[in-house]
Amino acid sequence: MWFRRDLRLADNPALCAAAAGGVDVIPLFVLDPALWGPSGPVRRAWLVRSLAALAERTGGLVVRHGDPAEVVPALAREAGASEIHVSEDFGPYGAARDARTEQALRASGVPLVRTGSPYAVSPGRVRKTDGTPYQVWTPYNRAWAAHGWRDPVAAPAVRWRHLASEPLPEAEVPEAMTLPEAGEPAALAHWDEWRATRLASYDSQRDRPDLDTTSQLSVHLKYGEIHPRTLLRDLADVPPGSRRGAEVFRRELSWREFYADVLATEPQTARESLRAQMRTMQLDEGPASDERFAAWAEGRTGYPFVDAGMRQLRGEGWVHNRVRMVVASFLVKDLHIDWVRGADHFMHWLRDGDLASNAHGWQWVAGTGTDAAPYFRVFNPVSQGQRFDPDGDYVRRWVPELRQVAGAAAHQPWTLPGGVPAGYPERVVEHAAERREALRRYEDLRA
Ligand code: FAD
Repeated sequence: MWFRRDLRLADNPALCAAAAGGVDVIPLFVLDPALWGPSGPVRRAWLVRSLAALAERTGGLVVRHGDPAEVVPALAREAGASEIHVSEDFGPYGAARDARTEQALRASGVPLVRTGSPYAVSPGRVRKTDGTPYQVWTPYNRAWAAHGWRDPVAAPAVRWRHLASEPLPEAEVPEAMTLPEAGEPAALAHWDEWRATRLASYDSQRDRPDLDTTSQLSVHLKYGEIHPRTLLRDLADVPPGSRRGAEVFRRELSWREFYADVLATEPQTARESLRAQMRTMQLDEGPASDERFAAWAEGRTGYPFVDAGMRQLRGEGWVHNRVRMVVASFLVKDLHIDWVRGADHFMHWLRDGDLASNAHGWQWVAGTGTDAAPYFRVFNPVSQGQRFDPDGDYVRRWVPELRQVAGAAAHQPWTLPGGVPAGYPERVVEHAAERREALRRYEDLRA
């Protein structure tokens, strides 16, 4: 059983397939430098912790380092394996890696068996009646729900077999960052606790970054410590008071599946605007723009809601969805910087960094993707803050320079009688002017 983005035993169809017939199963994880390198410090640390949790559940994990297309066939030979089982990877790199590995295994007659995927409905399954993919989330969501999914499967009884393992690398979390507990048992316990206590208010409060309202399950989903089918089964069985919350939560899960489907269909959109006409948008580059990018990345734009979000990213490796939208909009529409640069920065720091959800979350905001917000819709960083962090608590939590500013005034420190508090930066740009500039560039493009 070659584990990748499915670091769990329960509801793991590939593991069931591997263990079928009561054969010995070797739990393998390949540390692939092509993925380890760009993962960033937070996801590396998470991965190592999650693997340690999996190793506990399997009585040890066989870890090997290197290119899977070499490592997996070598291990198959060493172990005399009859089959290699995986859950299918639909990402551009993962799909190509699996094809290469499958080809390399062919020489020894060992099949690569793909069963299940990290999704309730695998990419490619939900199609319009004419067989083409959906371009827009609303009809996709309808068809996805109508398509449905199988019930979760229990963890099978497995006879684990262990071979020599290389050690897991050291991967410390960046200083001053604390992460929740990784691994399947923690993910399941967190889901049970959250569902019992906060699902009921999810529909009304999920847009409030000042309140701890959303599930924070994204990282557990990212590493497959819990499968979305498990979540969907539990959502179908909640008390009446939580039904509306469950409905909205299910919709959010379908965004994740939609974006995976879009990326599988259009793999180039990981780094390229889906809408061809948007690829020629005038962008800012050069030293002045680099300095603005650094101010954004370090949370010193002078716009408190943006700065709080960018500091939360570095402080927790996670940012609330509403704030992700606002900071992304600020980079693209106020600083006129390529969304790809912002997406790379997110991927470096996010614990839940997921190629499909990240690239398409960015493209949605930038107006360059499928089902995108129109380019001319520009988030106002002040009014967004006033609306979704009405008392300024989120800003004060992340921006200590503004802790003495009471209430919603924290969103506009430049209007305080004494001016901007000492230590907090002046605004790097003026939002109203940059909004006009963004619209001008958009009009130029259309012309
Ligand atoms: P909840 O509100 O509890 O939602 C439950 C689950 O639904 C999430 O865990 C996630 O799996 C899914 N979900 C919710 N919203 C979205 C969405 N808009 N798109 C796709 N899936 C969604 N999500 C990632 O998992 N990885 C990323 O790298 C990522 N990058 C993003 C970048 C930008 C610019 C934007 C705007 C959004 C991004 N998202 C990403 C989507 C979303 O912000 C996160 O999934 C969400 O904030 C995670 O927190 P949560 O688990 O508490 O969410």
